[in-house]
Amino acid sequence: NTSMKTVIISNRLPVKIIEENNEYSFIPSEGGLATGLGDVYKTGNSIWVGWPGIDVPAERQEEVIQKLGELNLYPVFLTQEEINLYYEGFSNEVLWPVFHYLVTYAHYEQNYWDCYKSVNEKFAKSAMQVLNRRDKIWIQDYQLLLLPGILREKLPTATIGFFQHIPFPSYEIFRLIPWREEVLNGLIGADLIGFHTYDDVRHFISTATRLLPVNSSSNILSSNERQIVVEAFPMGIDFNKFSSLTESEEVQYEITNFRNGKDDMKIILSIDRLDYSKGILERLKALELLLQLHPEYIGKIELFMVVVPSRDTVQQYSELRDQIDQFVGNLNARYRSMDWIPVNYFYRSFPIETLSALYASADICLVTPMRDGMNLVSKEYIASRNGDDGVLILSEMAGASKELTDALIVNPNNLGDIMEAIVLALKMPLEEQKRRMVAMRTIVEKFNVKHWVNNFILRLNEVKDTQKSLLT
Ligand code: UDP
Repeated sequence: NTSMKTVIISNRLPVKIIEENNEYSFIPSEGGLATGLGDVYKTGNSIWVGWPGIDVPAERQEEVIQKLGELNLYPVFLTQEEINLYYEGFSNEVLWPVFHYLVTYAHYEQNYWDCYKSVNEKFAKSAMQVLNRRDKIWIQDYQLLLLPGILREKLPTATIGFFQHIPFPSYEIFRLIPWREEVLNGLIGADLIGFHTYDDVRHFISTATRLLPVNSSSNILSSNERQIVVEAFPMGIDFNKFSSLTESEEVQYEITNFRNGKDDMKIILSIDRLDYSKGILERLKALELLLQLHPEYIGKIELFMVVVPSRDTVQQYSELRDQIDQFVGNLNARYRSMDWIPVNYFYRSFPIETLSALYASADICLVTPMRDGMNLVSKEYIASRNGDDGVLILSEMAGASKELTDALIVNPNNLGDIMEAIVLALKMPLEEQKRRMVAMRTIVEKFNVKHWVNNFILRLNEVKDTQKSLLT
């Protein structure tokens, strides 16, 4: 059987492993990528390769390979040290801050880089266990920038796509990385390189042509004999899931509970992972400014702020957490009354039903990252607004702002700008809310995650066909 399969490779597999009484079991995770690619990898003719999320001792690895195999998954086993250096080190302390323009947060450690290289090799080795020459390979995200190049050497004619879920910075930022050429050389092993926005595409092309011996013509790079297409594929969400979830009995019950006694209260919602790229403190400062300059809103608005724990063993993240604790505590202490507080702060994650109830209940969703590749929270809010009301305030630094142009777009560094947008949102007539919301819902529904997957795979096939026809 020479039929081709699709092999998806990402840092994490789309399952959570649970260890109970010395037994491993696997439950599917609900992340956007897992849902979106679910259709592809569950068809039997595809496999997903990635780290299973826990350190599996050598004598039990065969068992895990077996069990995951039943789900069309194939594990890459990483040691704790590899996780520390490759994932927390190079990926999250070099690539993440630099790609989000926070260059002062980067730690250029040689041993991070060495391990990043060897783990990318390890991914290639595992992938080779399941790969055939004619398979389609789709590599995901910034933890695996070298993998396209490594696989290209092993399988010169393979079809390789790469998608990066975080921003690609301007050349002036990217050039700071000590291993910049090697990173780029790894990436251009792919046939198709995708980013969320056209700006990321431009940055990548200009960076590649300055640092490598490649030429560009519009969105095509030419190196030796191979052409590499670079394109924008803005990722979507499962619109129907979020839209129908709000109608479910459980969510309706939560909404009623949540809004109980808050009839005249305007609810502002923000949901992010704990991250310095998300502009959480700036958002709080904008709220403080609002309470100072517009005391008429004291007692009339509440911010529900969900921060999902993330990377909090890293010093910068634990510091940010302390700063948020302090700011919220201080703000609440100064402005609260007996029966009202301005900020309802949660440092935890919630089940999707609760998130859905929050989205459906919030009059305003406040999304103000300093930088964000896309930002799915903003799209989930839109999809949850079945009544077409509600206002989205969105940072112009989020990829989503390129699509959701009917949001109130703000510069997240401009506290006055955010504050004014909140006031505008609080005063916005229902008619205008609906006009904007309907326009955004049309976009989020149409360009959903399935559209994103199909579009990428379609382009990958086209790119490969064009390459072949150029060779003959
Ligand atoms: N999310 C979640 N649990 C929570 C809060 C949020 O799973 O308690 C999800 C949320 O629904 C969204 C994702 O986390 O799909 C965040 O994606 P986004 O693109 O906004 O930011 P990222 O965390 O990827 O930088």
